[in-house]
Amino acid sequence: MTAKFQKKFALVTGGNKGIGFAICKGLLAKGFEVVVAARSLEKAQTAVSKLENDGAIRAVELDITNDDSINSARRHLSQEIPQLNVLVNNAGIYPDEGVNILTILRDLLTQTMNTNAFGAVRVTQAFLSLLQKVQVSRVINVSSGFGEINGLSAEEPGYCLSKLALNGATIMLADALRGRKIAVYAMCPGWVKTDMGGASAPRTPEQGADTAIWLATEALLQQSGKYFRDAPKGAAKGDRKEISYQKIGYKTPSF
Ligand code: NDP
Repeated sequence: MTAKFQKKFALVTGGNKGIGFAICKGLLAKGFEVVVAARSLEKAQTAVSKLENDGAIRAVELDITNDDSINSARRHLSQEIPQLNVLVNNAGIYPDEGVNILTILRDLLTQTMNTNAFGAVRVTQAFLSLLQKVQVSRVINVSSGFGEINGLSAEEPGYCLSKLALNGATIMLADALRGRKIAVYAMCPGWVKTDMGGASAPRTPEQGADTAIWLATEALLQQSGKYFRDAPKGAAKGDRKEISYQKIGYKTPSF
């Protein structure tokens, strides 16, 4: 069997709902065998039952804040799948309602950093053994415009700091993994109508998932370490995705 016809496997954290669920659906449409990872096996299985007709899909329990859960998911999947072509670190929280950078307490900062930033790092570390079984594999960190240097807001303190850290981790992981041909990207899905984004958001989960699907299938190894979002309306047809910064979050300071 030539490489062209070999199966491709993808794992999506927080794949049970919202943007993660749409990413699972989009990757199935591109021919991937998809693993839906969710905090509880029940949630993952419910999502799988909704996607069964879209392609090959399986469920795994994975709480990204718990190393035992991460390791057990890795052990389980190592028996089930031969390799991982794509890992999407999508799971995240936004618990900043009613606090700002002057009032947020350490516990909330820790919880948000632990989930949004350190969770992605620990999951990536754990799944390196499967990602390395492919000639070129990809890690996609679902970040946010709130993690850009110019997007930081005093009203979303834990969220902004955690996504800023995730963008930094993307650069560091990309540097560390370049020699092993594992590309690491960060992306912003835009403002999306989900439990997190709320009912007023203008984008559908499918629109929010589009950049992740593009990164999983079309982005180049040389683009590793960069941060992507949809190109602005009116951009040339070939420029579907814009790289906001050469290096994530770095822009000449305006002060
Ligand atoms: P949702 O709240 O709809 O979904 C979040 C997902 O993350 C859920 O599956 C949730 O699981 C999971 N999750 C949270 N904590 C953990 C954990 N400890 N372990 C495993 N899974 C966990 O949010 P969205 O779909 O909107 O967000 C997806 C990603 O997109 C996030 O990283 C978010 O920061 C980012 N994003 C979203 C934007 C938006 O406008 N919606 C804008 C910019 C970025 P459970 O069901 O168990 O809670």
